[in-house]
Amino acid sequence: MIRNALIVLSFIFSIIISTVLYATRDSLVSEHIRDNLDITTITVNNAKIYLVERNGKTIMIDSGNPGDEEKIEAYMAEAGLEPSAIDYLIITHGHLDHIGTAAYFQSRYDIKVIGGQGDALMFSEGIQQPLCATSLMASAIDMSLQGKTYPLLKADILVEGPYDLGQLGIKGKITPMPGHTLGTLLVSFDDIIFVGDLIRGELVRQSTPNRHFFMCDLADNDRDIATVLGMTQFTRWYPGHFGSLLAKDVARYWP
Ligand SMILES: [Zn+2]
Repeated sequence: MIRNALIVLSFIFSIIISTVLYATRDSLVSEHIRDNLDITTITVNNAKIYLVERNGKTIMIDSGNPGDEEKIEAYMAEAGLEPSAIDYLIITHGHLDHIGTAAYFQSRYDIKVIGGQGDALMFSEGIQQPLCATSLMASAIDMSLQGKTYPLLKADILVEGPYDLGQLGIKGKITPMPGHTLGTLLVSFDDIIFVGDLIRGELVRQSTPNRHFFMCDLADNDRDIATVLGMTQFTRWYPGHFGSLLAKDVARYWP
């Protein structure tokens, strides 16, 4: 009896583990949204690196974890994207898993880096500071990240207020949204918005929105999410981890 129960339990456990491993694997997804808007999503170690092709330019959004440079380059090659053809790298915020390879891509491929003024100190610290965990799992992640180092970064452009990418020849804009960090930037093109760590998808059901792992002021986070939901032109949100998310699903889960 006990033996049978143990067999069933180990079977269930192995299914859970393999489901989580499958959901959190590295991946490459290319989407042709419409003419003049293509999005390639590279996922390495659960951090998303987006490549947006727009107005004949390529914009990288976030850069993943330090040490993942070669994996990211391999996915770029698989997608047929030449790193030296990337014009700009926009950092949504200064956490290690978004800024990790930025200095490498900036110096090796002469990619211009755009970041938020409020996170300039993070760019120059080079060490991950403690985070405000929103769950037990997040506390465990926080412990694993604390004290990890990343290469120092000097952004080419520091953004303080709303920034029209039109001045760089790209139809799109950057909207600062302090909350997750002081210098968090949202990046939008037509009906699509890249939201960094404003929100995330669930670990397994990744198109289901969930509270991000790290957030110091939950009420402020709720207000920011409501603000973006109020920008009704954005129907799809691309977060830094898991996703993407439909705005209508965010509205459903964030009453
Ligand atoms: Zn973050």
